[in-house]
Amino acid sequence: MRVVTNRVDLTQAQVWAIAHLVDGRISQNDSVLESHSHDESAFPPVLPSAVVSPNSTAEVSSVLSYCNAEGIPVVAFGAGTSLEGHVVPSRGGISLDLTSMNRILEIRPDDLLVRVETGVARKALNEKLSSYGLFFSVDPGADATLGGMAATGAAGTTTVRYGSMRENVMAMTAVLADGTVIRTGRETRKQSAGFDLTRLLVGSEGTLAVITELTLRLFGIPEKMAAAVVCFPDLARGVAAATAIVRSGVAIARCEFLDKKCITNLNKLEGLSLAEAPTLLFEFHGSPQSVKEDANTVQEIVADFDGTDFEWTAEEGQRRKLWQARHNAHYAALAMHPGKKGVSTDWAVPLSRLADAVGAAERVLSAHSYPYSFLGHVADGNFHAQIINDPSKPNELNEIREITHSITSEIIAMGGTCTGEHGIGGGKMESLVEEAGRESVEVMRAIKRALDPNYILNPDKIFTEKI
Ligand SMILES: Cc1cc2nc3c(=O)[nH]c(=O)nc-3n(C[C@H](O)[C@H](O)[C@H](O)COP(=O)(O)OP(=O)(O)OC[C@H]3O[C@@H](n4cnc5c(N)ncnc54)[C@H](O)[C@@H]3O)c2cc1C
Repeated sequence: MRVVTNRVDLTQAQVWAIAHLVDGRISQNDSVLESHSHDESAFPPVLPSAVVSPNSTAEVSSVLSYCNAEGIPVVAFGAGTSLEGHVVPSRGGISLDLTSMNRILEIRPDDLLVRVETGVARKALNEKLSSYGLFFSVDPGADATLGGMAATGAAGTTTVRYGSMRENVMAMTAVLADGTVIRTGRETRKQSAGFDLTRLLVGSEGTLAVITELTLRLFGIPEKMAAAVVCFPDLARGVAAATAIVRSGVAIARCEFLDKKCITNLNKLEGLSLAEAPTLLFEFHGSPQSVKEDANTVQEIVADFDGTDFEWTAEEGQRRKLWQARHNAHYAALAMHPGKKGVSTDWAVPLSRLADAVGAAERVLSAHSYPYSFLGHVADGNFHAQIINDPSKPNELNEIREITHSITSEIIAMGGTCTGEHGIGGGKMESLVEEAGRESVEVMRAIKRALDPNYILNPDKIFTEKI
């Protein structure tokens, strides 16, 4: 556990007052506090003083109003799968667990939209939608909550075709730090009325408001889906092939890169028998005819980059197994190093710089002794390195942070970003300044000051200095 100096611990009177607001759903049980002290990153945990579980917008409003008046920090908590220390309650206070708000409020097939409470998990939503022939497309792999996904501006394997949370959140209900309830956006495909508060709150990482309801855009389940796998002699040719495919205009639904180490890990953990080489995984969506044509075009393009063993399948069980394995790549790497933690980086560059960016990351990481592997949503120019460290040696985490920061600086200099989808959290504050510039960060800080003047919402995230 990390020791914090400006920590807020609730008094007994404050615990009782909050309990009264949420019908007793407040806990100070050790294991509940522990499970809300960290996310899936290697960031050292910090215990909240209490975990509060509201089950309506009205309850969130009264808890925030009380905490604002009392100066109690509040960190919204979804599934806790974020990767930059986002949910670590750095100053104690309360962790506001939104998973009890898990009702699907309205499905409107004719409008291709759904209205959900913030704690609905992605997989549960898609299970429900499948009986309507619909799906919600954003797929970060982890079974995150929709609120957490909106708050981090999540993306994933299908973003190349269907967009990220930024494109797929149409409207929301959110509660400001002082308890004021606002509604943003409309249930329309287009809107041009005033400032776009929906997109301001998407990606705000719980620092500006707590989201309680979301209206999300849906798609029809495609008539046919097929997956394909192809190997490359080296990383550079795999990445170059992905770039060429995107440029060709083929309507790929997914295009993921995994390096040799990821494939070796997955073969061991998932019982697969993939050729152990840099690999691209694809998915095609459409009519049976269009899927076949797209797969043929991709096969022709990858041959130009010495892609071999092109294999494709429209068999549903195999297709699901392949993508489930891809989603488990993070855990497969950890399983290969028992007792260790993983730092998952997240860079994105313009497509033309993708091969240079992956090459730069490889050059820097290979000069150190930490085990690492690469994977990514390469069709979006977005890739990750997973770097293994020993949590019992805090200096390792610090050194890895320095190493990754140096790569990030190179990537920013290439016109890229320090994060394509994971967000800033507590880990990339310096990189945000480097990327956006002090003036832009000052504008962000002014917005924070206007909406959360007492600085209670997820403090010490996104910005370095105290306001
Ligand atoms: C194996 C693995 C793979 C991953 N792959 C991807 C990927 O491909 N793409 C991607 O984008 N991410 C990925 N992630 C990261 C993570 O899944 C996403 O960031 C996800 O959106 C977090 O959702 P959550 O419900 O777990 O949120 P949490 O981790 O609980 O919270 C994340 C942030 O959102 C805030 N928050 C949560 N709920 C609310 C709310 N209702 N209102 C306001 N703020 C809120 C929190 O305070 C915190 O700052 C991956 C993670 C893992 C472990």
